[in-house]
Amino acid sequence: MTSLTENITFVKDKIEAAARRSGRKVEDITLVAVTKTVPVERIKEAVDLGIRDLGENRVQELLSKQPAIENVNWHLIGHLQRNKVKKIWDSVSLIHSVDSIELAKELNKRAMSAESKVNILLEVNVAGEESKYGISPEEVVPMARELSGWTGLTVCGLMTVAPYVTDPEEVRPVFRKMASLKREVESLNLPNVQMKYLSMGMSNDFEIAIEEGSNLVRIGSAIFGERTYLK
Ligand SMILES: *Cc1c(COP(=O)(O)O)cnc(C)c1O
Repeated sequence: MTSLTENITFVKDKIEAAARRSGRKVEDITLVAVTKTVPVERIKEAVDLGIRDLGENRVQELLSKQPAIENVNWHLIGHLQRNKVKKIWDSVSLIHSVDSIELAKELNKRAMSAESKVNILLEVNVAGEESKYGISPEEVVPMARELSGWTGLTVCGLMTVAPYVTDPEEVRPVFRKMASLKREVESLNLPNVQMKYLSMGMSNDFEIAIEEGSNLVRIGSAIFGERTYLK
């Protein structure tokens, strides 16, 4: 088993090289370390090694780890049920997985009643996979237009989980499509819609995602090793 230090160095080097290939700097890319199933002690080691952004895909797991880990930004990257919004909306820096108007409405309502704002990304299911959440590419512009009037939300960009493939070159068109959707929304100059982030790229495909314009990569197993799920 390779050490956390080696894994983080390996991932950061790859991020830097991919950023350079796409004419950007390593500082332009945010690395979110995905910590689902990873014990708090091991997460703390990663934080000591310079990790500043952590991603969890379950509300309960995020909230249970949060008190033990300081000085980090938390990202909710997994599907969010409307009935869990109340618990999580003000505990994270960014919610990557907004996939319906109804969910956006609930987040907006919570934030507005606290005179606050929630930062969100719209999750897009580019390949139309049954097993994945997310709106279709055709829904991105109408949804961005609709949410732009909502004062409890800031739409900060788009997120996708690409289909899993052995050769990540195969999903390059998915990432390219996301970049074009981002430019399309940007060109509308909508209030409350910033298109700052393109959250795409996981352990298997982050280099290709960065080459195609990702600036927020979500990486789990390449840092912490293969996950073991306990029942
Ligand atoms: C688990 C997960 C990741 C990280 O996956 P790895 O392949 O381990 O890097 C990224 N994004 C989402 C939404 C996830 O659920």
